[in-house]
Amino acid sequence: MARGEAGKKRALVTGASAGIGQAFARRLARDGYDLILVARDQARLQELARELESGRGITAEVLVADLTKPEPRKRVEQRIAESHLSLLVNNAGFGTVGPFYRLDPDREEEEIRLNVIALVRLARAALPGMLERNHGAIINVSSVAAFQPTPFNATYGATKAFVNSFTEALAEEIRGSQVRLQALCPGFTRTEFQKRAGIREVRVPSFAWMTPEEVVDASLAALQRGQLICVPGWSYKALTHVTGWAPRALVRRISGALGRSFGQE
Ligand code: NAP
Repeated sequence: MARGEAGKKRALVTGASAGIGQAFARRLARDGYDLILVARDQARLQELARELESGRGITAEVLVADLTKPEPRKRVEQRIAESHLSLLVNNAGFGTVGPFYRLDPDREEEEIRLNVIALVRLARAALPGMLERNHGAIINVSSVAAFQPTPFNATYGATKAFVNSFTEALAEEIRGSQVRLQALCPGFTRTEFQKRAGIREVRVPSFAWMTPEEVVDASLAALQRGQLICVPGWSYKALTHVTGWAPRALVRRISGALGRSFGQE
């Protein structure tokens, strides 16, 4: 991966306090990146930073920010703009589950602010420097939910469809540069995501679950290959392939039935 000032590789990871973001931070620390770790939970970030710095010769800076709020988000944008990043991992995100008309509208808005607005703003902060240096990469964490409407998860699926469309469009805009983009589209991954979304029970077979480490390994391998859309795991690759070909009305019905079966209705 490309390097910033003084030959050091530096990555900023949002949502680094848990789940996929934390797995990115650990893997990137092992790969010798200096890190900027962003999330709201200061204690968790500081503990992680201490652990990652010890004995590795890298630095891990903690940047506490609620990315749904303009002021803290601007501080992160500023830090990105001055940081000579080699890699931005736009990972922080959450989902809401249930019939849309019953969900808290403020929480739905927060979901869009985090999954969409923050991701767009941070990409906008990172890209000019990367293009000027003609190196660097942005991984936008999306989901397999991006490939079809997701009833009972409607806002979430729509935010991830945005992420894929946005990332694909940017990749075309900057084609010819050495800057790489990726929309990372995991399926069910064992993190705090389901609990935070208030999902009581997820009835999916055990083979369908991935670990955050598997997701991160797939993402970074795909980035090396210059692959724009990364769907980790053979079963999810097959699923998204079929979704692309099947009639949309059928896809909506199956997706709705799955949404119901997750115990949300
Ligand atoms: P997670 O374990 O719940 O972690 C979410 C991370 O986002 C945490 O570090 C959290 O930290 C941070 N975060 C939440 N709200 C934030 C806010 N307002 N401002 C800043 N940071 C915030 O979930 P995860 O599964 O790792 O999710 C990471 C990404 O993967 C998300 O974009 C999610 O949509 C995507 N994804 C997950 C799955 C899955 O099954 N797990 C599947 C597909 C896609 P703080 O609470 O400390 O702020």
